[in-house]
Amino acid sequence: MKKQRALLLIKPDGVQRGLIGKILKRFERVGLTVVGLKFEWATKEKIVAHYPDTDAWFKKVGERTLTNYAKKGLDAKKIFGTDAAVSIGKTVKNWLIDYLQESPVFLTVVEGYECIEVVRKISGNTLPILAAAGTIRGDFSHDIIDLANEQNRPVRNLIHASDTVEDGEKEIKIWFKDNELFSYERADERIMFGK
Ligand code: ADP
Repeated sequence: MKKQRALLLIKPDGVQRGLIGKILKRFERVGLTVVGLKFEWATKEKIVAHYPDTDAWFKKVGERTLTNYAKKGLDAKKIFGTDAAVSIGKTVKNWLIDYLQESPVFLTVVEGYECIEVVRKISGNTLPILAAAGTIRGDFSHDIIDLANEQNRPVRNLIHASDTVEDGEKEIKIWFKDNELFSYERADERIMFGK
């Protein structure tokens, strides 16, 4: 079985709240190998490249707002001037460009078996209020999507974690050079996986 890699990005709310160590610890303690680390002030270009520019992604993001608004009886047109999911998604991407430049971001590449599933599980639901207790987003935040939308900002959920192997490889290339990544074996791997 081949190992996978994922990009983790501690967003400015995580950095500014002093949570870098607490967040990183959760990925280390589950047994993932840290193969790259970096602290940098993101540029607009990197953030634009980091989040997809596809209608499918815009729609997924916009539908989060629409689902929540339907539940609460709110009108998307009041905040977004539209109730088209793709347009809402595009607005959120613009908000993300500002949000991710509010402070430096802390970037990590981790590696391990089924790494993507593991990092998504540890990060929790995109919406902190729905994220299970025990996850990063569930334990350190309870930001609310309609409050965020009302304030013209993305949901502050502390961390980005790659969603698929392909996205992970794409994201790693944006943030890291090959010579900034290191391959080695953790001391506990033999015991955990019986190699
Ligand atoms: P994830 O970060 O869990 O992979 P997405 O890629 O769908 O989620 O969204 C990127 C980020 O944009 C989220 O982590 C969150 O900060 C923000 N976000 C997503 N959807 C919305 C929305 N409808 N309103 C406000 N912010 C959102």
